[in-house]
Amino acid sequence: MMRPGPRRSAWRSFTGRQRRAIQAQLAQRTDARCPCCGELLEARPNTRLRAVLPSGCGGFDLDCRPCRRFHPLILHTPRSLYLARLQRLASAVLRA
Ligand SMILES: [Zn+2]
Repeated sequence: MMRPGPRRSAWRSFTGRQRRAIQAQLAQRTDARCPCCGELLEARPNTRLRAVLPSGCGGFDLDCRPCRRFHPLILHTPRSLYLARLQRLASAVLRA
């Protein structure tokens, strides 16, 4: 994972509990509100995780501007799932 920079203004992803709250909202509606402040989350056409995702894998972020938090939604294709498995395998081998 990329470490957030030292800048205070850096965007951070929601915590696990907050992500589950957002997913629960998305299961019922097409929009979701920030679990921290209640602001409507704003979709970004690209995900900040793009740099660490296998190529061919798309996605978008749901942003809360006041909290500077984002919720990445990754859209996998069969090929990107395959590449993600290969990447995990490769890093496991390199660690061993
Ligand atoms: Zn918020």
